[in-house]
Amino acid sequence: MVSALFPTYARADLAFERGEGAWLAASDGERYLDFGAGVAVNSLGHGHPHLVGALTAAAVKPWHVSNLFQIPEAERLARRLVQATFADLVFFTNSGAEAVECAIKTARKFHAVEGRPERYRLITFEGAFHGRTLATIAAGGNPKYLDGFGPPVEGFDQVPFADLDAVEAAITEETAGVLLEPVQGEGGLRAFPADFLRKLRALCDARGLLLVLDEVQCGVGRTGRFLAIEHAGVTPDIAALAKGLGGGFPLGACLATHEAAKGMTLGTHGSTFGGNPLAASIGGAVLDVVLAEGFLARVASLGALFRQRLAELEDRHRGVIETVRGEGLMLGIKTRGPNGDFAAAARAEGLLTVLAGDNVVRLLPPLVIDESHIAEAATRLDRACARLSAPAKEPGAAS
Ligand code: PLP
Repeated sequence: MVSALFPTYARADLAFERGEGAWLAASDGERYLDFGAGVAVNSLGHGHPHLVGALTAAAVKPWHVSNLFQIPEAERLARRLVQATFADLVFFTNSGAEAVECAIKTARKFHAVEGRPERYRLITFEGAFHGRTLATIAAGGNPKYLDGFGPPVEGFDQVPFADLDAVEAAITEETAGVLLEPVQGEGGLRAFPADFLRKLRALCDARGLLLVLDEVQCGVGRTGRFLAIEHAGVTPDIAALAKGLGGGFPLGACLATHEAAKGMTLGTHGSTFGGNPLAASIGGAVLDVVLAEGFLARVASLGALFRQRLAELEDRHRGVIETVRGEGLMLGIKTRGPNGDFAAAARAEGLLTVLAGDNVVRLLPPLVIDESHIAEAATRLDRACARLSAPAKEPGAAS
């Protein structure tokens, strides 16, 4: 049947009927180990009892009341995000791109109310991905995503990845701050070195610039810390979250210090759905699990274990795997052949992955996996590599 959806995605011919933890059952009965987690969204896997309980309880209460009224669930969630991070204030959104949009607006408005409205530009990095709205495609700077959508939104200056001299050279009287993903997701699982992040923070302080993070993919525990920037011991001024925050329910958040958010006063920003009781209840349930004693340390140690397994695979299949990179449970395999072929081979072995730029295949399992899932994924990846390194059959050879 011809699809009535915009054909903007290359979809695998697979649909799922049931999910439990890290496992998905397809409509044809096949079981898949889900190491894509809906592109880093299903942080607690599928059907997590605590999330199902929170959703069910919220479903019989008002789902939506609008931001014209008090929303205790959103107040509570905001307070917990503030307690867990650098932030003093939170604005809730429904997606990552909206959270980044709010971060961009917050940074611009800060300088405007400081009496420097000319400071509206953000320095960004090659390989960035910040979403698909008009401002966030301009921030990402990928020509593929900008093509045909009219003049890009003004105000973004892109420099090479982790190049501090280039950042310094790009600063002008119009610069408001620097925007980056501490670990680039779509760009190919590239983590900014901790030393670079520390120097960047110092540079921002020296030049009166805001450090703005896009932690939509790497935040909420994915790298083994609540925010990925914590690995560098650096605090930002503003940060965007989404994906894992809702565990599968659309929920994003823009976090900021009091100082950075000083321009975001009454009437300056809004969202009809942002932070409604349903979304905020589920976000709260995600935090119950992710912020529980020992959870993040466990993600870090599982990440280290998985990385070790992947390094062994790299040794064994040098003709297939070029390198392994990433942080925590946000890992990537840079493949020698096309990454699409690798992902297809993994899928044929019952393992779901996600493609990224720079010929990388992303491995983003739910954060609630255990050692057995890592062992199972390593076995399936080993078989996928063997498929890819098997000599091609002679044309016409018997199968
Ligand atoms: N920023 C980053 C780092 C992302 O990975 C994504 C989505 O992949 C976005 C922003 C956009 O999020 P959304 O698709 O929810 O708008």
